[in-house]
Amino acid sequence: MDPSVLDRIDIRQGDITRLQVDAIVNAANTSLLGGGGVDGAIHRAAGPQLLAECRTLGGCPTGEARITGGYNLPAKYVIHTVGPVYSGKPKDAHLLQACYQNSLALAVAHQVRTIAFPAISCGVYGYPIDAACRIALETAATFLKDHPELEKIIFVLFSSRDREVYIERFKALSDK
Ligand code: ADP
Repeated sequence: MDPSVLDRIDIRQGDITRLQVDAIVNAANTSLLGGGGVDGAIHRAAGPQLLAECRTLGGCPTGEARITGGYNLPAKYVIHTVGPVYSGKPKDAHLLQACYQNSLALAVAHQVRTIAFPAISCGVYGYPIDAACRIALETAATFLKDHPELEKIIFVLFSSRDREVYIERFKALSDK
């Protein structure tokens, strides 16, 4: 893989709500009205205005993405995407890839230069981290190649184990 692409991917452990980036991505549900996990953390940190804006959007189908302000977050925007509930069927991978692709497309349409993703679908929705991580990294690398204006994609993992999985998969991608 091209070093000019790999240099623009960052893998970290931490809390995505703390990141000073142009946009953070929320692993939302189809209602966009908040939930647990990273969604709950983002709404708590952004404040009630985020929920008020989400109410105006009328939900979001699985695989698609919607953008709102970041309010009290350090990030300017929140991009809400709805990952698939893991079923073990081939459509899971297509939908998860669509989440990353549609979030990135929405980001560049709003002049976002730096964006951070959590491990979409890898919590309550049960997607195995290794399979999900491969989709995340490959979709990101392909998108960066086609979009030189996007400076950085950061993957923020909550656990050190998940971060290890991403680092291993990233090394495999670098050797390609
Ligand atoms: P989903 O319903 O899409 O599975 P979850 O929020 O349950 O979404 O989990 C997605 C991932 O986000 C999980 O790996 C979880 O550990 C992680 N996560 C939870 N809170 C945060 C946070 N504040 N920052 C980054 N990642 C988080």
